[in-house]
Amino acid sequence: MIAIKNGPYKSKNSSSNERWFVVLDNGIGTTRARWIMMNFLHTNYIPRRLHVHHINGVPSDDRIENLELLLNSDHTKKHNPKNYRYGVSCSDDPIINLIYDGRKDNV
Ligand SMILES: [Zn+2]
Repeated sequence: MIAIKNGPYKSKNSSSNERWFVVLDNGIGTTRARWIMMNFLHTNYIPRRLHVHHINGVPSDDRIENLELLLNSDHTKKHNPKNYRYGVSCSDDPIINLIYDGRKDNV
């Protein structure tokens, strides 16, 4: 299990979709979903071009069976190929973390 310093905690984002985050021991913030995927894969690093998608569309449902690792390009296609915007329908990309608390996300 990869150690965390804080969390999991809910996003302060006012969107209707609840989002969960953690701060890793090294001080880097990321989504709980990415942290769970990192534990599942026994790695402490998931490249930014890989996103963790919520299969059932519920961003608070971080059960491992609901998570899917996708290339960011495939993630884009999966949501809305014509009008995809980061963070609108999925909580899984690292960009949201940057918006959330200004931390640099390298995981
Ligand atoms: Zn997604």
